[in-house]
Amino acid sequence: MNHLASQDPRIFAAIEREVDRQNHGLELIASENFVSRSVMQAMGSVFTNKYAEGLPGRRYYGGCEFADTAEDLARERAKRLFKCDWVNVQPHSGASANAAVYLSCLNPGDTFLGLDLAHGGHLTHGSPVNFSGIWFKATYYGVEQDGHIDMNRVREKAKAVRPKLISIGASAYSRDFDYEAFRAIADEVGALLWMDMAHPAGLIAAGLLNDPLPYAHIVTTTTHKTLRGPRGGMILVGRDFENPFGKVARKSGRVRNMSELLDSAVFPGMQGGPLVHVIAAKAVAFEEALQPEFVAYSRQVQRNAAAMANVFLSRGYDVVSGGTDNHLVLVDLRSKNTTGRDAERALQAAHITVNKNMVPFDDKSPFVTSGIRLGTAAVTTRGFKEADIERTVALIDNVLSMPNDESVLHQVRKDVYSLCTAYPLYDFVIA
Ligand SMILES: *Cc1c(COP(=O)(O)O)cnc(C)c1O
Repeated sequence: MNHLASQDPRIFAAIEREVDRQNHGLELIASENFVSRSVMQAMGSVFTNKYAEGLPGRRYYGGCEFADTAEDLARERAKRLFKCDWVNVQPHSGASANAAVYLSCLNPGDTFLGLDLAHGGHLTHGSPVNFSGIWFKATYYGVEQDGHIDMNRVREKAKAVRPKLISIGASAYSRDFDYEAFRAIADEVGALLWMDMAHPAGLIAAGLLNDPLPYAHIVTTTTHKTLRGPRGGMILVGRDFENPFGKVARKSGRVRNMSELLDSAVFPGMQGGPLVHVIAAKAVAFEEALQPEFVAYSRQVQRNAAAMANVFLSRGYDVVSGGTDNHLVLVDLRSKNTTGRDAERALQAAHITVNKNMVPFDDKSPFVTSGIRLGTAAVTTRGFKEADIERTVALIDNVLSMPNDESVLHQVRKDVYSLCTAYPLYDFVIA
């Protein structure tokens, strides 16, 4: 029955070992989660064989009737989940969703304003090594010494640089955003407002954080972080509107809506054929996220993150911004005389997975860093509650206090194993 195991034992063995790693390690990477078996089954389906360029009902290929069903379900469910007018579920990733935003809103050389990478922003928000920083003029706002964004400072900056586009959203910011204030600033300087909710999308869907959709002109997300779907991206528009660039439809001469510009930016602008198997899996995940269980899950994610921040603080660690509103905790290790790189390595040896991360006003390079970023989305899917988080932070503290002590490492590895086996995850290798 297991065709992969007999046909390609080396790849099968790698998958088997990865299942074991996920089952028996403490997964605290803030951008990761564990999908359901149903999501995996949709991803592993024959939809991977299908070309379906274009949108449902308007494809460039024949035989798309069932691909249309999958994509229509994904779109309809996403619109219900985020209460919005329009979505495009085709972006292969968060980065390609973002690329479509730049392609529809900016010309090369145009100025945009986003959150400083060193203060929690994402590569696609203007890093000099990313297309967003190479082709456009990236300017930044940051956080204050207390780790929070000050809207007056954002406003000053926006008035000084006059961006065409303002982005909100981050990969390492643990606080909620004031979308209404951002929109007022965007309106004041004549910019479009774009929220990249890649990290907190699940908490936003569950109604536990401020909702960007009424305020941002465009919203992008990944589907695999707190939203707990397959690896992929999505673009949303809360209330559709005529594009402010006056771009007209070729045949009718009618001014096209923003949603139409975004659709054509995804295809044919940025991508070729959509990943129909992933779109089907997105549909499955969105239906899961529409259930009351997902709201309960998300609430626990948030509670676990709050508990995590509190335990770190009580053990004498510096938590950036003093706590968290979402699923993420950023710990500044400078007062503990260690670096992000060394902490990541030591914890890895204890089967605890985190990532090193710059903290605001970091004096170390991105390869070393002064912090670690942790998130609770994945362990909460396993069933972790506050008490388990408290044990988890105690184990982290043990490792970081004595990173070179083999007997400590040995004991922590045993404790990690028993904590994980108390909350079984996958009981199969191939879905
Ligand atoms: C994760 C993330 C992305 C990129 O998602 P990929 O699917 O890895 O391309 C974009 N923006 C933000 C803010 C993110 O955190």
